Amino acid sequence: MVDQPPARRPAAPPAGRVYLDVPYAEKDQAKACGARWDPTGRRWCDPQPPTTGLDRWTGLPDVPDLLPGEDRRFGSGLFVDMIPRSCWFTNVRTCVTPKDWERLARMVYGRAGHRCEACGAGLDRAAGRRMEAHERWAYDEHTGVQALRRLISLCNHCHLSTHLGFANVTGRADQALNHLRAVTGMSDHEVFHHVHTAGEMWTRRSARTWTLDLSILTDAGVTPARPEPADARPAAAERALRQAPTPAPGRVSGWRGQGVASQQPPQGPPHDTPGAGLA
Ligand SMILES: [Zn+2]
Repeated sequence: MVDQPPARRPAAPPAGRVYLDVPYAEKDQAKACGARWDPTGRRWCDPQPPTTGLDRWTGLPDVPDLLPGEDRRFGSGLFVDMIPRSCWFTNVRTCVTPKDWERLARMVYGRAGHRCEACGAGLDRAAGRRMEAHERWAYDEHTGVQALRRLISLCNHCHLSTHLGFANVTGRADQALNHLRAVTGMSDHEVFHHVHTAGEMWTRRSARTWTLDLSILTDAGVTPARPEPADARPAAAERALRQAPTPAPGRVSGWRGQGVASQQPPQGPPHDTPGAGLA
């Protein structure tokens, strides 16, 4: 486990420029309209404000580095953390606007110094390593409340290990397990039990519906949209999974023989936060 100290983020753009909030999916469009990437601030900016056509990406105030009520010690380290089937698509990214997600992800990466808070690795484009924002949830099985407790910066390799079910259905279970083993130092035996326990927990949590608590966002001024009705989430998840960008060659190929015997994980959800906020 590596908890990074908060990192100071540039408070102001270069002289004469204005920062924008450009969702990753809209970066090419913004660039075509005149937006330029500021590598120091790791953020798109208007180089000669006001530029016609860039107003739709006008930057909003930063969200605080510590969200109200957020617990940055909650869920430290790397572990399999599959989203219950009945919770799919109640994640943060699907509940806020793309611009708000951009603000949140930028805060998460910035306070972590653009490093992974699980393995400590930094950005490395040449090696295909990028940062992704992941949500840590607390599930109260007594009240049925799924509460967002923390946002965490994970590298794409740690994020894949976290979503082991998704890794499995996209043919990357070996990759995910090898990374989990390397980062945590777990033995094959320990990995087996860890995956088995995570699968049991996933099955139990998937057997019920959950009420979403996003108060750490609402108290920070982010307005969530209404998530899909609980009874519609599994079907929506299945549709999205079929459209997942990564094909699933040999759903559980390699799952055996990696020290986890014949243990097969449940299928997991599509990635919740792939590469958001990076140019
Ligand atoms: Zn990592």
